[in-house]
Amino acid sequence: MKLRIAIQKSGRLYEDSVSLLRECGIDLRNVKDRLKTESDNFPLEVFFLRDDDIPQYVQDAVADIGIVGENVLLEKNKSVEIVENLGFGKCRLSVAVPRNQEYAGIGSLSGKKIATSYPGILSRYLSDHSVTAEIHEISGSVEIAPGIGLADAVCDLVSSGGTLFMNGLKEVETILSSQAVLVRNHDLSAGKLAILERLLFRIRAVKKSKRNKYVLLNAPNDKLDEIVALLPGMKSPTILPLAESGWSSVHSVLSEDTFWDIIEQLKQAGAQGILVVPIEKMII
Ligand code: ATP
Ligand code: ZN
Repeated sequence: MKLRIAIQKSGRLYEDSVSLLRECGIDLRNVKDRLKTESDNFPLEVFFLRDDDIPQYVQDAVADIGIVGENVLLEKNKSVEIVENLGFGKCRLSVAVPRNQEYAGIGSLSGKKIATSYPGILSRYLSDHSVTAEIHEISGSVEIAPGIGLADAVCDLVSSGGTLFMNGLKEVETILSSQAVLVRNHDLSAGKLAILERLLFRIRAVKKSKRNKYVLLNAPNDKLDEIVALLPGMKSPTILPLAESGWSSVHSVLSEDTFWDIIEQLKQAGAQGILVVPIEKMII
């Protein structure tokens, strides 16, 4: 038995989706220009599809699981279950208006024409705010619509804001923050659920390792207590004597959030020769 996963065929989620599977130790046969492929070392079959079609295929059990942006998931409104946030494909769905135009709050969109590829999410948002506007659905290059007189505003995906800026637009409302998620069909067999659990175990180990670094440092023994107190570690740090007497080597794991703060404090406390090493997998 194999678990069938749908991922984007090409586009912004493709590289990260394939890399995630590879980092999970899943080798994929020949992924270029294929509609589907499979793995020889994990019971997984991979379908390459347009991202818009993935919610439907997972709902209809053509695929068992899929990787798709939350934005697409909400727009398509299909019945699938989110099992894990994947931390890539981060963006937001925002309303933008011409930069030289004053913006007086969401009410000022009343009666305006708004171009978007997300008519479902936008119309729900507008009606939640009691705004009636004309939604003009276009499938791509939404950001040029105001410039060519097609619309007064846009509702589009933004990551850095560079594209909006280049088109003379400014972001005025954020409707949704999105990232890629792993979704599953509601009714997977016990056998498929077991494969999904194995995959999730690996995905979580990969995600965790990305948020953490392995740190090695040298510490004078008389400063050891102070230095150890700064380190969280998985259990407690590992301490090994160095060849030079009076010194020890200290090994620990630091998370991204506190990393720089702790490194500075370690230096101040007398740590030397601090090495920071990426972690490939982290299994707790
Ligand atoms: P497809 O051919 O599969 O339909 P697409 O053109 O609809 O592709 P892409 O532009 O490749 O889609 O974007 C795929 C997903 O990547 C988006 O739905 C969104 O979840 C995510 N994403 C992240 N950052 C951005 C961004 N700045 N602009 C657009 N999408 C982004
Ligand atoms: Zn698409």
